[in-house]
Amino acid sequence: MQRKENNFNQRKIAKFILKKGETSKQEIASELGLSMPTVLQNVKELVQNGLVIETGKYESTGGRKAAVLSIAEQFRTAVGIDITANHISYVLMDLCGKVIAKKRMKSVFANDSAYYQSVADNLETFLRDIDADRKKILGVGFSLPGIINKHDNVLVRSHVLKQNHMNLKPFSQRIPFPVSYENDANSALFAETHHIDTDMIYLSLSNSVGGAIYLNGKIFEGNHRRSAEFGHMIVEFNGKSCYCGKKGCADAYCSATVLLKYADSLEDFFECLQDGDTEIQTAWDNYLDHLAVLITNLRMAFDCDIMLGGYVGGYLKQYMPELSCKAVQYNMFENDTLYLKNCTYEREASAIGATMYFFDSYLNSL
Ligand SMILES: [Zn+2]
Repeated sequence: MQRKENNFNQRKIAKFILKKGETSKQEIASELGLSMPTVLQNVKELVQNGLVIETGKYESTGGRKAAVLSIAEQFRTAVGIDITANHISYVLMDLCGKVIAKKRMKSVFANDSAYYQSVADNLETFLRDIDADRKKILGVGFSLPGIINKHDNVLVRSHVLKQNHMNLKPFSQRIPFPVSYENDANSALFAETHHIDTDMIYLSLSNSVGGAIYLNGKIFEGNHRRSAEFGHMIVEFNGKSCYCGKKGCADAYCSATVLLKYADSLEDFFECLQDGDTEIQTAWDNYLDHLAVLITNLRMAFDCDIMLGGYVGGYLKQYMPELSCKAVQYNMFENDTLYLKNCTYEREASAIGATMYFFDSYLNSL
């Protein structure tokens, strides 16, 4: 019983140190409501284990200087692999949330053994090139665009990869580490909300529009794991055709591919926009009009922060005044759009988020 209680407190203390970045035994005791002997014993064990290190001393306020406690960098790591229709991204993350290395490469998805093998071979090359310490790697997390049945390791449906009921075991079998799978938008949300407790809608504006709903510290998946299909909310009655077969879906107006009709890459699109190209300006204005409708609908439904992520989300920061102006017109309850948040990560968000499962499991195993 005593041991069980210690483990519970140790987990709590380790998670607290991770969240704070730097802290002291005194702060741990007062913030977590633990006695000083309990904190001393557990911190001692965490330091012996190597997870926690003393990184210096706080300025004295009289008496002995308190030690600065932090999580040891690169004590444990995990790999994230994001699979999209035309690219694969690899990241190596550490437990503190730092990206140690990343690599993105062109690779056209195919449901065949040559593709599975290339994913595994490229992982080996990635790890070798960065001289990664394999003993520290907790596992490899895959992020995939579609609905995933994690229990049976099946990709139930993916419009982007054009797959139904695809068995994911051929991936796991070729990877010499524990493997986990997660939907790409959920992964991106995990990356962005790591150690944040607030409710959040993550709107992913990539080659398709999707998202994730984060409420009370958990992803809300819905009864059929089909929640947050924001791309198929209708924003224009009888509007443009969507790949799902309906008309007027947000995806037909707000996916990155809409902008890619005007330029070879998003980088080119936004460069031309900066240069004042009138055709591009009109296309962007139209894009923002529909995005404003979509985000206002989400705000009306959830009344919480909305993070703008995905490929386009990465570029939106400098266009927030225009977007806010349009969104405010549709919202009779609010005069501002402070609920809109820009994403921290761009293309690598899903790969980063795919590693979180291993860090959470590790901390929960203490
Ligand atoms: Zn649709």
